Amino acid sequence: MNINADLHIHSKYSSGVSEKMEFKTLSVQGEKKGIDLLGTGDCLHPRWRRKIKDLDKERESIFSKRGMKFILTGEVETKDRVHHLLIFPSLSKVEELYERLSRFSSNINSDGRPRVELSGEELALMAKETGCLFGPSHAFTPYTGIYGNHDSLSSAYGKYAKDIHFLELGLSADSGYADKISELHDLVYLSNSDAHSPFPHRLGREFNTLDLHELSFEGLEKLFQGKKGEVICNAGLPPEEGKYNESACRSCYTHYSFKEAVARDWRCSCGGVIKKGVKDRVEELSDTKKIPEDTPPYQHLIPLQEIIAKSVGHSSPTTKKVNQIWQRLIDSIGDEVDVLCDSSIEEIERIAGEKIPDLISDFREGDVDIRPGGGGEYGSILLEKENEADERQSCLSDF
Ligand SMILES: [Zn+2]
Ligand SMILES: [Zn+2]
Repeated sequence: MNINADLHIHSKYSSGVSEKMEFKTLSVQGEKKGIDLLGTGDCLHPRWRRKIKDLDKERESIFSKRGMKFILTGEVETKDRVHHLLIFPSLSKVEELYERLSRFSSNINSDGRPRVELSGEELALMAKETGCLFGPSHAFTPYTGIYGNHDSLSSAYGKYAKDIHFLELGLSADSGYADKISELHDLVYLSNSDAHSPFPHRLGREFNTLDLHELSFEGLEKLFQGKKGEVICNAGLPPEEGKYNESACRSCYTHYSFKEAVARDWRCSCGGVIKKGVKDRVEELSDTKKIPEDTPPYQHLIPLQEIIAKSVGHSSPTTKKVNQIWQRLIDSIGDEVDVLCDSSIEEIERIAGEKIPDLISDFREGDVDIRPGGGGEYGSILLEKENEADERQSCLSDF
């Protein structure tokens, strides 16, 4: 059974998350995106857990609302600032871990993503004892990813490094990045949205197509037992779109090569700090050129609303016009994954005119130019015209 799963989102009880992150909205929006299975997010939070209990229970770990399936998930920050994603087998196991973690956390009742005064190794042991599926969230993110803070899995997880079930790639990386590090070759890679709002340019902006023998915790557990073949595809933003892709200044967003940044001692000419980008960090850690044969394909795509906005010349993906075109496409074709990946270009053209299908087929063929993000600023797609203007600009600046 092939399903599209987005296993990392947050509820309105996590800091910096939209009040609209409620199950009702998530069900409606998830279906429009073409997602079959969503993580509940934040299941350690007592108030969110109460809402989970109000959903229809399908299995010990699977709940549903209006047809959308949810699996018990939560994120925890350890004392080294690293974020970890947990998938739970049942609500009673969530409660068991909640009780244990409460002793090490001052905000477990106030923040959906609690911080615990434990090392990654201590948390990994507790996750293992609870029977959770467990791995690092957005592994390459400079501030809260393991590779932002550690040089290896064992530096973060000690003797439990071998018990990690998966590695979440995060928005600034794809499987090609992870494959450059040999200790990751046996792990299943996940691409999840980490959505903080249910809008279509956030929820499901990254997802995994999984071949599950059963839509359950046990189905996922089997998949993580080193069987990459059961991940049909990872899908999500091209890494260059991520806001920490290249090394760049946190204040003025000027980009620097690794060599330049080192020579400048990570100080920008404006006086700001240059933040090391994911691309450079991966090169630093890279220890192999061998690519594992079983890595599933990574489909680069960006949210349909952003494609529409770009095509109609709007800077925001949430304008009325963008929404109208988006809704028209979803109503006629079914869901966003269908529009982006499967439906015929002719049909999209019939519904939405010329420019949008052009950009969609460029994505399908991997033929899109992107101005990379860095220093906290997202990257952006370059349409042909802008590309030429950019080249002209860089020629001028050579003089
Ligand atoms: Zn996180
Ligand atoms: Zn600067």
